[in-house]
Amino acid sequence: MADAGEALDYDWVVVGSGFGGAACALRLAEKGYSVGVVECGRRYDDSDFAKSTWRIRRYYWMPKLGMRGIFRLTRFKDILVVSGSGVGGGSLGYANTLYRARPSFYTHEQWDALAEDWDRELAPHYDTAERMLGVTTYEGRGPADELLQRYAEEIGVGETWTNTRVGVFFGPEGEEVPDPYFGGEGPPRTGCVRCGQCMIGCRYGAKNTLRKNYLWFAEKLGVTIHSERQVIDIRPIGAEDGSDGYEITTERAGAVLRRKRQTFRARSVALAAGALGTNKLLRDAKHAGSLPNVSDRLGHLVRTNSESILAVSAKDKTRDFARSIAITSSIYPDPDTHVEVVTYGKGGDSVSRLFTLMTGDGTKLTRPILWLGQVIRHPLKFLRILWPVGWSERTVILLVMQSLDNAMRLVPKRRFLGRGVRLQTEQDPERPNPTFIPAANKVAEWFAGQMDGIAQSALTESFANTPTTAHILGGAVIGSGPDTGVIDPEHRVFGYENLYVCDGSAVPANPGVNPSLTITALAERAMAAIPAKASDGTNHDSGGV
Ligand SMILES: Cc1cc2nc3c(=O)[nH]c(=O)nc-3n(C[C@H](O)[C@H](O)[C@H](O)COP(=O)(O)OP(=O)(O)OC[C@H]3O[C@@H](n4cnc5c(N)ncnc54)[C@H](O)[C@@H]3O)c2cc1C
Ligand code: SF4
Repeated sequence: MADAGEALDYDWVVVGSGFGGAACALRLAEKGYSVGVVECGRRYDDSDFAKSTWRIRRYYWMPKLGMRGIFRLTRFKDILVVSGSGVGGGSLGYANTLYRARPSFYTHEQWDALAEDWDRELAPHYDTAERMLGVTTYEGRGPADELLQRYAEEIGVGETWTNTRVGVFFGPEGEEVPDPYFGGEGPPRTGCVRCGQCMIGCRYGAKNTLRKNYLWFAEKLGVTIHSERQVIDIRPIGAEDGSDGYEITTERAGAVLRRKRQTFRARSVALAAGALGTNKLLRDAKHAGSLPNVSDRLGHLVRTNSESILAVSAKDKTRDFARSIAITSSIYPDPDTHVEVVTYGKGGDSVSRLFTLMTGDGTKLTRPILWLGQVIRHPLKFLRILWPVGWSERTVILLVMQSLDNAMRLVPKRRFLGRGVRLQTEQDPERPNPTFIPAANKVAEWFAGQMDGIAQSALTESFANTPTTAHILGGAVIGSGPDTGVIDPEHRVFGYENLYVCDGSAVPANPGVNPSLTITALAERAMAAIPAKASDGTNHDSGGV
């Protein structure tokens, strides 16, 4: 156990600077607390983002190989996860789309009884999150939107077509203006030029990343962000339940040699390392005996938003699918299924390597055979999709999400090399995550027909029956007690004092839409319940942004 005698570095340490972490950092600083944020990714200014995803050192995150970009790929047995990294977390490379969760989310049995009405409970925090992230409705209809609308009409759900709600500044195109969102107190901003490259990183300053709002104001209030530092352990100082505070051990992210270990001591900790980061940290700390009392439910109810990501590529660039923002419209083929059209913009061609010819339903055994059958039957199509040049401009990506109740688990496995535990997935035996979504293949086939194009699934799905998600959630979810969840409805870790989880891992059910707004609203709600610092009896609460 760490010694309680030494002084604390911060009142609060926040681990991770994505949607949950950024909201925590700002609200805690506003309440008068000293806050340190530890983020393993690097700090990116607008001009630092890669111009193309071929600039792999700036785009992909594999720090052990010297790649310190914003896009992280993590392969498990049952799911391929894409997620973000950097100061601003997933907001740097996300696709700006900010919807509120579907109705079934608020009444899911995991947490329904823990509030009178979660919809009403979250509503004011959604309002705050939308204001902070500058959510507005996209205006525009490109060729992909027209196709999506026609598809919706053909299958009888035309009324569900809508432009997306997004966090982008649509001021004068390409022109810098003083902060339009926060009465001039925020950073200057540039109007969106509709280059479609939001997921490569917005080099124009039009995208409302967390650096432009929450983190901007947090740093203004004195929050220190320690970038390129990975938290590897959290253990109580003094009392075993953490009531005296915690020691947070960090290392240079991805370092094999010269790890430059550094510890921070704080009264309280908010874990916001994203679903994968928080699950790994809590599992390592439980396994190492640093936080042995974390609930055994850790790693249960991991959600993928019941997702599938497909793509359809046209032969040529006759129709420009890239002149827009990343996600422009969506439909509901059925009440549980949500489809969005997505572009990577010019310069996203390396992402084509993640896709291959689409296959139908199957198993881990039969899907490779189905895939081989597709290659043999369509050799020219197969060869054509191997040609990456111009892929991202010729391609409509179809993002399919469902609000259905399915899940998997992140379980610890023995590790032969390296440190800590290795996490692996297992399907939830009662409600396995789908490996094939018929509605997803149907829309892709329809688009392929209309575009004279080639329908593609994620490589891992077609070939190994492993779907892809950009929305990994859960694993440290809200529950009524340690036998049903890892945190209580105020986001406090069961069994510990002053230890919170405020990111995607807290989310108890599939929201069925892009989840970042929900993650932010949940973090806003958790932080609203924390009293202002009052060391000398004064209430330091400044009212806030
Ligand atoms: C390409 C792409 C497009 C997306 N588009 C959308 C979209 O349009 N709308 C939407 O709602 N969602 C989108 N998402 C998903 C969205 O990015 C995530 O849901 C969201 O960022 C999760 O927020 P979070 O607070 O849980 O964690 P994150 O935003 O993932 O932040 C966690 C941070 O913690 C850091 N971290 C992890 N482990 C450690 C550690 N041990 N020590 C220190 N730091 C650590 C990570 O580097 C990361 O920066 C997209 C994701 C991707 C990959
Ligand atoms: S379309 Fe281009 S300018 Fe607009 S937000 Fe996306 S990356 Fe920025």
